[in-house]
Amino acid sequence: MSAELRQSKSASTRPSYVLARAEVRGVDRVSPNFVRVTFGGAELAEFGTPGDVYDARIKLVFPPASGILPPVARDNDDWWGSYLAVPEDERGSMRTYSVRSLNVSDAGTEVVVDFVLHLQPGLTGPASLWASAAAVGDELLVVGPRRGREDRSGIEYAPGSASSVILVGDETAAPAIARILEDAPRSLRGLAFIEVPTAEDALAIDAPTGVEVHWLPRGSASHGQRVIPTVLDYLGDSDATGEIKITDLEGEELVWETPEYSGSGEDVAPSASGDDRYFWIAGESGVVTTLRRHLVKDIGIDRSRVAFMGYWRRGVAMR
Ligand SMILES: Cc1cc2nc3c(=O)[nH]c(=O)nc-3n(C[C@H](O)[C@H](O)[C@H](O)COP(=O)(O)OP(=O)(O)OC[C@H]3O[C@@H](n4cnc5c(N)ncnc54)[C@H](O)[C@@H]3O)c2cc1C
Repeated sequence: MSAELRQSKSASTRPSYVLARAEVRGVDRVSPNFVRVTFGGAELAEFGTPGDVYDARIKLVFPPASGILPPVARDNDDWWGSYLAVPEDERGSMRTYSVRSLNVSDAGTEVVVDFVLHLQPGLTGPASLWASAAAVGDELLVVGPRRGREDRSGIEYAPGSASSVILVGDETAAPAIARILEDAPRSLRGLAFIEVPTAEDALAIDAPTGVEVHWLPRGSASHGQRVIPTVLDYLGDSDATGEIKITDLEGEELVWETPEYSGSGEDVAPSASGDDRYFWIAGESGVVTTLRRHLVKDIGIDRSRVAFMGYWRRGVAMR
């Protein structure tokens, strides 16, 4: 749960977020492991980011077994408290997703989400199951930024004046990377490394010509075993060969270390390293933590140049 969606100190009487009942308007099985769902509906009318969407995150509330969406208050800034006040078996499930596209027109606002289908027994969850069966007319709740508000946008991507960007992720980060690259100035330079289950999951991205996009099909390898060596090799760390040992934080937390925020309470003061590349790294928490260890400890990349974000965690159900 991101703090910025939870509370607002804003003087505005309207909540800083939009909590909308949204209806499925389209379902497109775009690849073996992605389903693209388009949401619409009158309650999305005020949904919107302050400018470009980039990696804006939203919360989706999936209905419980009854099919009845929980009654969550929309008139104050504590939607989270209101959600938690609903009895657990009536609450449904809440998960975090990225906005693959935001379409605003006279006909209304549409939010497009690319869901990863992870459906293997024991490795699936309510969001993936819902997406696998989604049909036009289905409803869920969307919690996201309110158009016209600068706060609570849920955007982490912040390259500032970096001369180039290096975007790294797995399939759960692919929608955010795609949005970042499609929203970025056409003069952007850099690289994207995206590990996906199969070669057919490499979806079209309208990236700036100065950004090379490398899709890394995982095949039978485990999570991270394609992307970690590829990134380390690119950064000149030739020691990282063979099977990479994945390490993660203690407990069930996701790693979240950005230039502005440290989940572990580290000093986030900018340093004058002279490296003007910007790194954005997201995906399975252990894979991101492992990359962080190599980049910051072994290669010496300045942590204030990198956003490291755990999007999900192996063996742990999110909320
Ligand atoms: C900021 C942010 C943006 C995100 N954007 C997207 C997005 O655009 N698209 C998207 O698909 N996901 C995205 N995610 C990840 C998504 O929230 C998680 O994958 C979530 O766990 C899915 O919920 P679930 O109910 O399907 O599974 P859960 O109930 O949370 O987990 C059940 C089991 O499934 C496993 N699991 C979860 N995700 C995966 C996976 N991808 N592959 C294999 N096993 C998995 C868990 O380890 C657990 O064992 C994002 C997460 C964050 C924090």
